Amino acid sequence: MKSKILKIILISTPIGFVGSGKGGGVELTLVSLIKGLLELGNEVTLVAPEGSRLPKSCKRAQLINIPGMTQISWQHQDKNSPIIIPMNGVLPRLLDCALNIAKDYDAIINLSYDWLPLWATPHLEVDIFHLISMGAVSEVMRNTINNLSKTHHRRLAFHTYSQASDYDLKKEPIILGNGFDLKDYHFKKETTGPLGWAGRVAPEKGLEDAAEVASSIGETLLVWGVVEDKTYAKNIELSFPFGTIEWRGFLKTHDFQNQLGTCRAFINTPKWNEAYGNVVMEAMACGVPVVAYDRGGPGELIKSGLTGWLVPPDDVDQLKIAVSKIDQIDRNDCRNWAIKSSSHIEFARKVYSWIVSAIDNL
Ligand code: UDP
Repeated sequence: MKSKILKIILISTPIGFVGSGKGGGVELTLVSLIKGLLELGNEVTLVAPEGSRLPKSCKRAQLINIPGMTQISWQHQDKNSPIIIPMNGVLPRLLDCALNIAKDYDAIINLSYDWLPLWATPHLEVDIFHLISMGAVSEVMRNTINNLSKTHHRRLAFHTYSQASDYDLKKEPIILGNGFDLKDYHFKKETTGPLGWAGRVAPEKGLEDAAEVASSIGETLLVWGVVEDKTYAKNIELSFPFGTIEWRGFLKTHDFQNQLGTCRAFINTPKWNEAYGNVVMEAMACGVPVVAYDRGGPGELIKSGLTGWLVPPDDVDQLKIAVSKIDQIDRNDCRNWAIKSSSHIEFARKVYSWIVSAIDNL
């Protein structure tokens, strides 16, 4: 039987425009999802903060740019902070735009990790769904998601079990993983390259632990990503011998993966319950083994002993040992695992099935 074509509105993160890097992994998740949904024959409109861009591969998607003040990310607020929506905030405007056009669509999928769209859900007649992109970094958000699960559980989906375990959900969580267009990532077989680290440079990402590993063996750590917290970045740089960190900046996926693939090992050091950890899968897609703390998403993405090594959270000595035995990992296994577990098309299929089955059971 031919599947029904869906017309879907996606709401982007209100933290920054797509392409800025400020929205973290959500930006790439959106692009992969749009590509996948389009390839499956669906129609997609993305409502996103002004300045957003989509790659050519998403050209069949409609993009609506919305002006307005961006939100402060929840992970950079106090756990007990109240909800703050600035005057002329882009968040209400994104929702407003999506609701205004919703009658011509089958569903809205919201990727903003924010109170307003979640809170509004029981009061709306449109079919709105939420792909939750973070663990419970705020009590307001935890409470809002817990409450929505009581009455509208099918409207919620998560990337990993670890992430979902932060919430008290009424039923088993809907887990969708994540996806990447693996054609965009090229396998590199070289095993003698440098050590690498990537992510938003901010305290929850634990860059200092990876720098300590590199420094302990007198090597340079290549670092990619948006420097979100400049003081934090500077302090790390000053804590280690000059040249321990080589800042490579925030690169487009094509250039990022090209450089990432040269690494002999990728180090991932989350200090929070990482929802997924795109960079972990992107490294493996290039054939790069990953050494990571067994915390949050990376604990589910890495097959310890096959695609890298998982070590106890915050145990830097174990990280060092794991890096020293990286030659035991076959880079082909990393690439094959990424292909098997995280293609954008499989991810889009899972999202599609979630929406279709939820609509059928509303
Ligand atoms: N990234 C990038 N260019 C860079 C470094 C990182 O595009 O030079 C992207 C990377 O592809 C990933 C995102 O930054 O999608 C980081 O997402 P992740 O899920 O690892 O962490 P988050 O920022 O969401 O906490």
